[in-house]
Amino acid sequence: MARNLDPKCRQCRREGEKLFLKGEKCFTDKCAIERRSYAPGQHGQKSGARLSDYGKQLREKQKTRRMYGVLEGQFRRVYFAASQSKGVTGERLLQMLETRLDNVAYRMGFGASRTEARQVVRHNGVLVNGRRVNIPSYQVRAGDVIEVAQRAKDHLRIKAAVEAAESRGFPDWIEVDAKALKGTFKSLPARAELPSSINESLIIELYSK
Ligand code: SF4
Repeated sequence: MARNLDPKCRQCRREGEKLFLKGEKCFTDKCAIERRSYAPGQHGQKSGARLSDYGKQLREKQKTRRMYGVLEGQFRRVYFAASQSKGVTGERLLQMLETRLDNVAYRMGFGASRTEARQVVRHNGVLVNGRRVNIPSYQVRAGDVIEVAQRAKDHLRIKAAVEAAESRGFPDWIEVDAKALKGTFKSLPARAELPSSINESLIIELYSK
C-alpha cells in the first residue's frame, strides 16, 4: 500500500502549523512546530513570504491531504465524489474525509494518530456493526457502531490512546464508551464542527481550474 513516508514533523513545518501526525508528542512542548515554526530546509525561514494565489491554493490542499494522511490520487477522487454529491462541495469534501474509517477510529481514540488508527484498521482491529472492516477509506454512516475487535482489546497502545482522547474530550458527533472500546458515529459533522484551520474554498479553486 502506498503511503507518504516523509518525516511527520517535517510535513507540519512545511505547512507552518500543527497537523497532529505523531500522537501524544503533538500535545507536548517537544512538538517541532513549538520549537521551529518555519519551513524545513536551507531557505525555510524565508519561504512562504510571497505566495501566489496558486501557491496558497496548493499549500491548502497539501496541508489538508497531509492532515488526513491521504495521497494525491485518493484526495482527488474524494474531491470528485464531493463535487458530485448533494450539498456544498467544500463541506462535503471535509465530511467525506472525516467519515473515513481510519479517521473515525482516530476520533474515537483507537489510535493516538491517524496513522496509528489506520494501522489498527488494516490489521483487522476494528469492527463496523459487528463485522470486520479493514479498509481505511471505508465511509462510515450515521448510526454505525465502531468497536475494537476482541483480539485487539488488550493492546496497551489502544487503551492508552482512548484514555488520552477521552481526557481531551470527544467531538459531539460521536459517542464513545472508552471502557468498552466502542463508539457510535451519531451524525455527519456540520462544518462548524470540523477543523477551522482548513480553508476548503482554496482547494475548490485549485481543482476548479
Ligand atoms: Fe506536527 Fe505532531 Fe510533529 Fe508537532 S509533534 S510537528 S504537531 S507531527
